[in-house]
Amino acid sequence: MKKQTTIFAILFIFASFMFPATLEERIENISKAEMQSVVEFLSHDLVEGRAPGTRGGNLSELYMKTLFKFMNLEPGADGKYLQPFKLQGFTAKELELTANNVTLNYIEDIVGTYARNEAEFELEADAVFIGFGIATRHWKWDDYKGVDIKDKFVITRVNDPGLFRPDKFDGKTLTYYGRWTYHIEEAARRGAAGILLIHTDRTAGYGWKVVKNSWAGEDLLLESDTRGTLKFRGWIKEDSLKKILRVRNIDIKELYRRSLKKKFKPMNLGFSIKVKGKNSFREVLNHNVVAEIPGKSKKRIVISAHIDHFGIKKHVKGDNIFNGAIDNGTAVAAMVMTAKILKEFQKDLYYTVTVLACNAEEAGLLGSKYYVRHTNKENIITNINFESTPVWEKARSIMGIGARYSTIEDMLQILARKNNVGYSYFSMSEQGFFFRSDQFPFAQQGIPSVWLSAGEDDESGQNKYLSFWKETYHTVKDEYDPAWELGGLKQTIKFGLLLIDHINRTREVPRWKRKLTFPTEGVGDPNR
Ligand SMILES: [Zn+2]
Repeated sequence: MKKQTTIFAILFIFASFMFPATLEERIENISKAEMQSVVEFLSHDLVEGRAPGTRGGNLSELYMKTLFKFMNLEPGADGKYLQPFKLQGFTAKELELTANNVTLNYIEDIVGTYARNEAEFELEADAVFIGFGIATRHWKWDDYKGVDIKDKFVITRVNDPGLFRPDKFDGKTLTYYGRWTYHIEEAARRGAAGILLIHTDRTAGYGWKVVKNSWAGEDLLLESDTRGTLKFRGWIKEDSLKKILRVRNIDIKELYRRSLKKKFKPMNLGFSIKVKGKNSFREVLNHNVVAEIPGKSKKRIVISAHIDHFGIKKHVKGDNIFNGAIDNGTAVAAMVMTAKILKEFQKDLYYTVTVLACNAEEAGLLGSKYYVRHTNKENIITNINFESTPVWEKARSIMGIGARYSTIEDMLQILARKNNVGYSYFSMSEQGFFFRSDQFPFAQQGIPSVWLSAGEDDESGQNKYLSFWKETYHTVKDEYDPAWELGGLKQTIKFGLLLIDHINRTREVPRWKRKLTFPTEGVGDPNR
């Protein structure tokens, strides 16, 4: 009898290890090897940095599809795993800029894209300084004042006036209107022929090295974004711009001083800017990889992470493979593990879960933008996105970037309290992270979304996450390290699962709770 009890006890222990009874137990059992496998593969040199439309990019799509099949997830895009979308790729082979008889050089002084299928190009137009190039009712600001910039070469500051004047915009916190993408979109809408974004470390939030690495090489654009009048888009180093202005005795400080005034108007600078160079062009067929775990309801929660990175950059000497281990291998691991465990607990799912491995994020959130515009968005109740997930020890807190706009923050705070961790805000919030990854296109369509992550406050008091953003982000140093503890990654997976579990149990659909300070185009838009 005693012997039998012992056998049962052993069997029970064995079974509960193999088949954890509760979600919490399963989370505790997440192994380091499970998490490592995804990061290790995606950031391997053989995957060549996963640039869209390259061998490595295609390989990472295939890998995701294979993983989804292996996990028995259903296809999530019209009965298929792959959702195709077309991009146009432009690579500058040569580029130089001339103004006031000063010639500036590619990479050293300027980077940019001439977005036309022309092997050799030349564009010359009058230079106009447009301040921050912002026009928005949200912050009662209009740099354009109705001045026509059609066919002009505009020069703009990036960021927004709040960086310098705490009473303007959202103070130091970067608004949507301070993002460089916005400055280009607005100038394009107004018919500019070219745009130069002035780079300073302070206004861009990162050094010239980051700009250079992101822009040198192929620039990918959605086909719809290359049809307007805007032919050239690029960055210019502040010091290089000063060389051009000096010839005309224009003091850049004076331009800056004026740009901070509400009464600012575009200023014709009295000279022209010419860019010329050589281009190569190709059309790229790209895919999001989409899977589904059906719940009882058709209403869906979308979990996402981008699979692409920068690929191989020929201009970089030595190691030129941008492996993107943290950006975004670790986040893909978070998404895959979340999906894997949800599948194991599928019987408990009320809401269906869509697993979206999106592509071309680095090129401007193109895959997620395409996905959300081409799906039945009325059924999506929320998006939980993973991005550049911390890989070191456990953190003292969790953070929900962008959660403050919606009731997602209340949910996360409840879950943090229950699990004895803090709830924190990212110290780099002034750089507009909510607008910079795949959760944002969801928010723009009116769907409450969040970038969920372990906090930056490691238990031992270090802040390795901050060092990552300052030193490693978008460089070739973003490589896999088998020594990572992966505590922060496990914690991120845990809170992703707990949040989905919370929404499933309470049936509480996330909703907006404060005025949104970015333009939305979709359903449930509280701005309208
Ligand atoms: Zn990323």
